[in-house]
Amino acid sequence: MDLIYRSTRNNEETVTASKAILKGLADDGGLYVPEFIPTLKVSLEELSKMTYQEIAYEVMKEFLTDFTEEELKHCIQSAYDKKFDVPEIAAIKDADGAHFLELFHGKTIAFKDMALSILPYLLTTSAQKNQVKNEIVILTATSGDTGKAALAGFADVPGTKIIVFYPKSGVSPIQEKQMVTQRGDNTYVVGIYGNFDDAQTGVKNMFNDKELAKVMDEAGYQFSSANSINIGRLVPQVVYYVYAYSRLVKNGTIAVNDPINVVVPTGNFGNILAAYYAKGMGLPINKFICASNENKVLFDFFETGCYDRNREFILTSSPSMDILISSNLERLIYKIAGNDAKENEMFMRQLREEGRYSITEDMKKMLVDFVGGYATEEETAQAIARIYKSDNYIIDTHTAVAAHVYKQYVEKSGDTTPTVIASTASPYKFTRSVMNAIDQSYDSRSDFELVDELNRLSKVKVPEAIEDIRTAPVLHDTVVDAADMCAEVKRILGIN
Ligand SMILES: *Cc1c(COP(=O)(O)O)cnc(C)c1O
Repeated sequence: MDLIYRSTRNNEETVTASKAILKGLADDGGLYVPEFIPTLKVSLEELSKMTYQEIAYEVMKEFLTDFTEEELKHCIQSAYDKKFDVPEIAAIKDADGAHFLELFHGKTIAFKDMALSILPYLLTTSAQKNQVKNEIVILTATSGDTGKAALAGFADVPGTKIIVFYPKSGVSPIQEKQMVTQRGDNTYVVGIYGNFDDAQTGVKNMFNDKELAKVMDEAGYQFSSANSINIGRLVPQVVYYVYAYSRLVKNGTIAVNDPINVVVPTGNFGNILAAYYAKGMGLPINKFICASNENKVLFDFFETGCYDRNREFILTSSPSMDILISSNLERLIYKIAGNDAKENEMFMRQLREEGRYSITEDMKKMLVDFVGGYATEEETAQAIARIYKSDNYIIDTHTAVAAHVYKQYVEKSGDTTPTVIASTASPYKFTRSVMNAIDQSYDSRSDFELVDELNRLSKVKVPEAIEDIRTAPVLHDTVVDAADMCAEVKRILGIN
């Protein structure tokens, strides 16, 4: 029996995993969720003896039940290979009383690579399985890291085109340079005058536009999504929580079945939701500590039960978390509403129309495992400087938000459970903010001088992703108003 996926907004809309991956978003604007969270079929003990790729298979086969063993193994082997600069794919570094799970050893040095190196394989396999004839157009909104990781994953993949929209003034200089230098005949990068939420809303509107879908189909195209609303993004992210746990068992930090906490620097709520799914599969996770920057809409939600996006959008030094509409939270809301699509749809309508909703007391009770916290800009910088001084370990701004929130949590709760902090980006991706946190006098230096200085301080090799853009030419320079995103897509595809 195949695991069925349902839309969070309509219980009648059901699809297989491969169809959910192909479509990205359900026709009613909802997100696909598995009917239930499957459990791991191997013991935690056995997992501690497996490689990343083997664990990936054990996790993903439970979710993607309409993929054959051969198909799934091919996807996994093609994705998790020498593209990663550590043989174990993800690394664990102990510092500051926690275990930093380094998820940035892929091609674009952010954790998005963990899922986006496999998504193109999952998607093209899904297209074959479902006899899709159209060319697939990956439409993506990015707050900086998804864009580059998706571009790198889909560049020159036959049968696909990828169009990425990013907020022109809302990403770091290195993030922007990484994207606008992207090679590949099927890649398009477009800046917009607006913020990430504008980009994400524009993309969602195109997905929901039935007329547009028809015109596209006539021209031989169909959309899919590389954003974390795609279940093909979420499932590969479950893997590294299981992997992290298995390594802590393997190196003797914990015994089999001991609980751990996880701290996740959060924006769109995809990464932390994957941890929640990992617990659903049987991984002993106690607390999910959701770390926000000054855009602390999720912190307020966990405190009060009210999700309220009516507030100022703040540009911070952790731009990949500058988000006021956390798309994947919808999957959790649906779950704690008792898998009730009608009730979820009501909350999402309130969010669209009034910018806020409040969950019921019963729903709030189901969130006991979640703890919210946030870090100000100053606290983020202090965390970087503090951990550099204490452990000689340099973390990026997003991870620093999590490190601060974790410290705050331990001080308040006294909880000594072994804790994994998701380290979501290499410090080289946010060199200027990171170096300024260590010493403000660095501010006068150029971006690449700072890269070399970071290399000197951290003794961590400059990643290839950074070396590549030192001299790479800018290949994409289009910027449009948020309102013109659809027109731009039509222009790119040559349809009207
Ligand atoms: C995308 C991103 C985040 C936020 O992850 P979500 O899954 O959107 O919550 C955090 N840190 C970095 C570096 C990112 O790229």
